[in-house]
Amino acid sequence: MTTAKAKKAQQLIHPDRDNRFSSEDNPFEAMMLRFDDAARRLKLEPGLYKVLRAPEKQLIVSIPIMRDNGEIEVFTGFRVQHNTSRGPAKGGIRFDMAVSIDEVKALAAWMTWKCAVVNLPFGGGKGGVICDPSTMSMAELERLTRRYTAAIIDIIGPDQDVPAPDVNTNERVMAWIMDTYSMHKRHTVTAVVTGKPIDMGGSQGRRDATGRGCLVVTMRALQRKKMKVQGATVAVQGFGNVGATAARLMAEVGMKIVAVSDKSGAIHNPKGIDIAKAEQFIKAHTFLEGFPGAKPISNEELLALPVDVLVPAALENVITSKNAAKIRAKIICEGANGPTTAQADAILDAKGIYVIPDILANAGGVTVSYFEWVQDRGGYFWDEKTVNERLEKIMITSFDEVSEMSVKHKVSMRIGAYMLSIQRVAAMHRLRGLYA
Ligand code: GLU
Repeated sequence: MTTAKAKKAQQLIHPDRDNRFSSEDNPFEAMMLRFDDAARRLKLEPGLYKVLRAPEKQLIVSIPIMRDNGEIEVFTGFRVQHNTSRGPAKGGIRFDMAVSIDEVKALAAWMTWKCAVVNLPFGGGKGGVICDPSTMSMAELERLTRRYTAAIIDIIGPDQDVPAPDVNTNERVMAWIMDTYSMHKRHTVTAVVTGKPIDMGGSQGRRDATGRGCLVVTMRALQRKKMKVQGATVAVQGFGNVGATAARLMAEVGMKIVAVSDKSGAIHNPKGIDIAKAEQFIKAHTFLEGFPGAKPISNEELLALPVDVLVPAALENVITSKNAAKIRAKIICEGANGPTTAQADAILDAKGIYVIPDILANAGGVTVSYFEWVQDRGGYFWDEKTVNERLEKIMITSFDEVSEMSVKHKVSMRIGAYMLSIQRVAAMHRLRGLYA
């Protein structure tokens, strides 16, 4: 490797490489700006303000694994627990080249607020490994997952911190984590992770839960805005677990999905895209590119379509100060974590766009994770109908509580959601007091 190349590779995997973010797209800052706004409006005590800003625990680990060719490579992994006052930390693990400590810190804090918005007895955590799973074999991914699990094993557990799937991790990865943890503990511990395969203690309905939650809150928002569900037009950015499921379920209730996108670009058909066919096409061709019956457009064009509902369901920083003015959707349902920057919030608010914020909109996943944890611990499993009914009830209640908060304090749904969750976490801290 040339020196320049080596330097670049080093920069890519250095755990402290947070200066790669501009201040607008630094996810930790984006989270903090909203937190500060909500905390100020709640007149949060200065001491508690300091406590809630600081992540409780940040673990950085080196993960040596052997590649299939016999070479040893060292990856960097993280697990951050932002707050555990209401219960065990809860949150996914992502495998991605863009992972950094700042991103994981932000995502962990978002999990604290998300779990509190939907009133689950969990705190917030998040993990990640800097890697590109698309370049790794199944055997390498398994070794990476198992060694990462071993490296963070002291801080995870059903009562401590319960990981789950996130970007580029799935049921298969959760199965390896559960097995590794159980082998160390010398007995089977299913409740250490959620999002597992159903045959090993996973929950019915978990796979679709985030997308289903998006559907429930979008229907509630349409109702609030006195808009019809039948024929409501939708653009979905991101066609992974969240985006594809949301699109499928929205189409099932009669909404018209006019555009979807993935890494290969976006496709548009004003008459509606057949989502089942798009899912089949992806199975055969990996990407949407070349899908018949829709014309290719750019991701930026998708975001600017004049639709009733826009669902950003990929990664952070998709709607920013640079493109927010161009957005013409009436409702935005944030399937992803952190798709809108704080600077973009102000522009969307001024345009009167109704934003269902990430910590409410995509909370369906962690809600069914909670159900999975409860079922594992109780050793008694529910049918899919029960899971979906209970999920719907929590999503509707939480939507209404956030909406009430935003009306009462004359703030956006986002700040309303932060206020509701900060209030709940703060209440727990006040009751528990400060251990010294
Ligand atoms: N990764 C998902 C999220 O960001 C799910 C987390 C969980 O189920 O614990 O909400």
